[in-house]
Amino acid sequence: MTAVQKVAIAGSGVAGLAAAIQLAKAGVEVDVFEAKLELSALGSGISLQGNALRVFDALGAWDDIRDAGYAFDGLNLRAPGPDAPIVAQLPDVKAGGPDYPGHMGIPRADLATILHEHAERAGARVQFGTKVTGVEQTDAGVEVFVDGESRGLYDLLIGADGINSTVREAIGIDTKPEPTGMGIWRTYVSRPADVETTELYYGGPVYIAGYTPTGDDTMYAFLVEKAEDRFGISDEDATKIMLEESRAYGGPWNAIRADLEAGAKANYTWFTKHIVDAPWNRGRVVVIGDAAHSCPPTIAQGAAQGLEDALVLTELLVARDELDDALWDQFHARRLPRAAAVVEASVQLGQWQIDGNRDADAGGLMFGVAKQLAEPA
Ligand SMILES: Cc1cc2nc3c(=O)[nH]c(=O)nc-3n(C[C@H](O)[C@H](O)[C@H](O)COP(=O)(O)OP(=O)(O)OC[C@H]3O[C@@H](n4cnc5c(N)ncnc54)[C@H](O)[C@@H]3O)c2cc1C
Repeated sequence: MTAVQKVAIAGSGVAGLAAAIQLAKAGVEVDVFEAKLELSALGSGISLQGNALRVFDALGAWDDIRDAGYAFDGLNLRAPGPDAPIVAQLPDVKAGGPDYPGHMGIPRADLATILHEHAERAGARVQFGTKVTGVEQTDAGVEVFVDGESRGLYDLLIGADGINSTVREAIGIDTKPEPTGMGIWRTYVSRPADVETTELYYGGPVYIAGYTPTGDDTMYAFLVEKAEDRFGISDEDATKIMLEESRAYGGPWNAIRADLEAGAKANYTWFTKHIVDAPWNRGRVVVIGDAAHSCPPTIAQGAAQGLEDALVLTELLVARDELDDALWDQFHARRLPRAAAVVEASVQLGQWQIDGNRDADAGGLMFGVAKQLAEPA
């Protein structure tokens, strides 16, 4: 017997779909409510470290994800300037342990499609254009309201509804994401053959320039700058700004600029940080993923942490008979210190960039966190 028989999930991002897959596979009735009208994933590509890949394996989705993405180990540092020389080739501490590649780049849309297919195949009902707007808890369960109307009683509502979570607010948690002071331009472009790993450029007009391969022919490129009010600008101006800010960087950036000039779109967003203190649940409602924590992608761990939340929560829900305090205590003990360590390190790395602190041991901090993550959550 599982601790829950009927579960509602708000949000079909990586955290919500991972939870849906695991619960549906265990025979739990699962409704996923997704506010967007269709499956879509903004922001070009994503870099997933070994601990995320280990979760995909547990979900049964790793083979499909490996085929759709680009696996690699290590990280190159290059210098700004026309020749963009490689100044360091750093080995990986494999965050998923020795059985998985250090990293995988994958187009976000492909990742979303694969997880959605696995969730539906497992038996979860994913409903688009359905926004969770409220909850009411009684002894019998949690009543979930979608677009203002009751969708009935559930044993549990998982709020995997992202950084501006409605579910978090509905249960009275007032922690909110805060800007860290950094903004990022991202674009999805073709991969020059010599780009085989993530490469970062420190120095020059932005804090960090870089790119990550996502497939045989594709990669995403990014420029991290001081957060500016770039919202509402036209696609054309966005591309122009990214082109101009990238001119200090040579090597593969020449090919990236050619793609931008040919019409590749540039997307802008700010980095945020927050972590909800324990407990992440109120009765039969819990928040996971970005609803519970967010961090700048300075160590590329946001989605990985949401995936770990989903895996640990569903493991406990399936292994135990009751949704009791002991279950929540175990959930928080396994998830909170780990997610907090990632948020803290990611924010610190960004802050060192903002402060121009060249003496900080960024590599030591990154590798230290990756070593902790190599142990399963
Ligand atoms: C610039 C940038 C780069 C990043 N790069 C990386 C990286 O390389 N590696 C990494 O691991 N992480 C990265 N991250 C973090 C990662 O993108 C997020 O942590 C992850 O996507 C969050 O997944 P989620 O499922 O928790 O939430 P989301 O992906 O935000 O999904 C939430 C879903 O809930 C839906 N929703 C919202 N409200 C409701 C509602 N009321 N009812 C129903 N549905 C609702 C939304 O439409 C959305 O589909 C990056 C983040 C940023 C900002």
